[in-house]
Amino acid sequence: MTIARLSDLADKSACRRLVVKVGSSLLVGRDGVRRGWLEGLVAELAAARARGQDVIVVSSGAIALGAARLGLDKGGRASLADAQAAAAVGQIALSGLWAELLAAHGLTAAQLLLTLEDLEERRRYLNATATLTRLLDAGAVPVINENDSVATQEIRFGDNDRLAARVAQAAQAQGVLLLSDVDGLYDRNPADPGAQLLDEVRGVTAEIHAMASGGSSSGMGSGGMTSKLQAAEIAERAGIALAIASGLHDAPIARALGEGIGTLFLPLRKDGARKAWLGGRLHLKGALVVDAGAARALGKGSSLLAAGIASVEGEFRRGDAVAVRDAEGQVLAHGLSEYDAAECRTIMGRQSGDHAALLGYAPRPAVVHRDQMVLL
Ligand code: GLU
Repeated sequence: MTIARLSDLADKSACRRLVVKVGSSLLVGRDGVRRGWLEGLVAELAAARARGQDVIVVSSGAIALGAARLGLDKGGRASLADAQAAAAVGQIALSGLWAELLAAHGLTAAQLLLTLEDLEERRRYLNATATLTRLLDAGAVPVINENDSVATQEIRFGDNDRLAARVAQAAQAQGVLLLSDVDGLYDRNPADPGAQLLDEVRGVTAEIHAMASGGSSSGMGSGGMTSKLQAAEIAERAGIALAIASGLHDAPIARALGEGIGTLFLPLRKDGARKAWLGGRLHLKGALVVDAGAARALGKGSSLLAAGIASVEGEFRRGDAVAVRDAEGQVLAHGLSEYDAAECRTIMGRQSGDHAALLGYAPRPAVVHRDQMVLL
């Protein structure tokens, strides 16, 4: 059974494994942690476990909580150094709280602090997958956050929405529930009286992106609708259903899934695990810009040949993930390059017969093989 409506996220035959992401503004109020609310949520997570679902928590709130304790301005987001210091203070309290509240239901919390690279680099991604799988098999509830105190600007997720989608991929979850301070995606600015909540989205198109006004209404987290849509894109390509729902109520999971209040982004396809990982990569080492003929051939499932490459951007090594773009700048695919950037520049635009002489060794059949490429 696959997930077709919000209530399916509570059904273990459709969703054996669920990732629940909790936004900062839900966890931390003006007076610190919203403990009563969190107790209610944890009771709901315990109920999901009792139904036979595996549950993974992605918890924000470290920066907001730490900033409150340290008395930092702007919720600890005035500078990277502030955010990193705030996260170090907030995270220890946050994980203690999750452990305590889960323990009250007989559940064992397991903390994982991840950086972007932990999920972008294949070997580390597989390692994270193995740890998550082992923890779930052993009956623990992983509680995950970005390792904000060490992740620097360029290599940060920066928001827990995309982190949650990537974690769902790594853990082979079927569903993600992003609990936020909005009910879901509206067709226009939710402040507009005519704004309609979308129940279901089949594919995050340009039109859907245009509906997101961007910026979290609380100003506390760094999420906002834009990062939620990016998370939905990662999920839909990996065959994972993702929902956005409001956590502003007591028992928010029952409200979202029981009453069907939220937006469900349906999975679009089920790439194999490796291709899903590649398609969801956020940082790529470089790009291969292709001509119109090569773009058409890729669309029909061909490998990318050097003859169709018009230019090469960035510095990458053989085996690195690169973007494949058309001349207009649209990203067509992600793939693993069979050559390093300098070699790509040597053979780009040239027919296969010339490659051996240009490279000085026996060439490979393609620059990006179709098996190592995922069309976007
Ligand atoms: N990792 C951040 C924190 O714990 C939250 C990121 C976000 O707002 O999505 O505070």
